[in-house]
Amino acid sequence: MNPRFFTRAAILSTILLGAILLAPTRASAAPPQDNPTTYIVQAGDTLFGIASRYQTTVAALKKLNNLTSDTILVGQKLLVPSGNAPIPASAYIVQPGDTLYAIALRHGTTLRALADLNGLANANLISEGEPLAVPINAAVAKPDFIIDPPAARQGGTILIQLARANLASASLNINAQTIPLTRAAGFFYALAGISRCAKIGNAALAISTTDADGQDASEKISLAVAVTAFPVDYLTLPPAASAILNDSALIKRESDQVAAIVGKFSPARLWSGAFRQPLTGTVTELFGTRRSYNGGAVGACGHEGMDFGAKLGAPAYADARGRVVLAQKTQVRGNLVLIDHGLGVFSGFYHLSEIDTQVGKMVEPGELIGKVGSTGLSTGPHLHWSMWVNGEYVDPLEWTRRIMP
Ligand SMILES: [Zn+2]
Repeated sequence: MNPRFFTRAAILSTILLGAILLAPTRASAAPPQDNPTTYIVQAGDTLFGIASRYQTTVAALKKLNNLTSDTILVGQKLLVPSGNAPIPASAYIVQPGDTLYAIALRHGTTLRALADLNGLANANLISEGEPLAVPINAAVAKPDFIIDPPAARQGGTILIQLARANLASASLNINAQTIPLTRAAGFFYALAGISRCAKIGNAALAISTTDADGQDASEKISLAVAVTAFPVDYLTLPPAASAILNDSALIKRESDQVAAIVGKFSPARLWSGAFRQPLTGTVTELFGTRRSYNGGAVGACGHEGMDFGAKLGAPAYADARGRVVLAQKTQVRGNLVLIDHGLGVFSGFYHLSEIDTQVGKMVEPGELIGKVGSTGLSTGPHLHWSMWVNGEYVDPLEWTRRIMP
């Protein structure tokens, strides 16, 4: 929802924080994900090390692979007991703009050591989204529990990674919400959105786990939430827009309707890689911008998405793979499309002049979903783009620069 009265240079630099990645904690390479029962021997591996990662013994590994000695060779394929995924190599996921040298620096190692560890012949050839093994970082207090980034920020998304292979299930409790953890190759993870108006300081979160034997456990963790320096906008609204804004019952009704949809959790993850912007336009207002209307007080909770200036009728495209869960006219957000990407991740496209998709449709990134308009609470053609993670509005820009595991 954005009444846009003037276009101003977007101050991106304050918010363009790349993903801050916590150093992963184990030196080991991820096994090929398509066949979890085969492991490829990496430089530095020993039978004992592999056996302990897969929760088996050297003798069992030797029997399974008909080995007559303890000697293994880099590149050799070994069968490992199925059902016991390795503790994740904590695969560091290569981010846009990363170089092996920069990754090595951040993890206190050398380019050569990283290249060797991952069997890379050419250190220049790493791809976005690729998992890399990185060496042990003793600074990490809880090696099997990673919060990334370690200090959350208002409007940011955090990734919780639980590096335990022997769990049956796990869930995260944050902001009185329970979010199931999703199983990946040897670890569990969850995503949580941090409200753009979250209290600064420490927030409590808790992890509950059930292991393979049915034993329940839970632990509390304190999450540091840092302030985000959101810009402030002073707006003067025409009477018609003011009337909508002052109709608190209408605003609440529609917000509740949207919240009921984006608060759902679909267990199938539909997207992969970074999200793409729905169009290439000028950014006219950033996520979280706090507003004062008609000389009133500055609101505590800012803009629920980011705005792109664009011509009436300009095409708007899906930001990532997902299923359309709403495509209809609304009073405040205008013609609205909502996409469910799975795992509690949703995106929304407001004020469209025309909707070119329908509820239930699976859309691919870059697929046309509608045309830019000025419907709802809007004073000129623009596209408003929102994202939610488990019900909280989050900064969509972070999702264009960060790849989740
Ligand atoms: Zn907006």
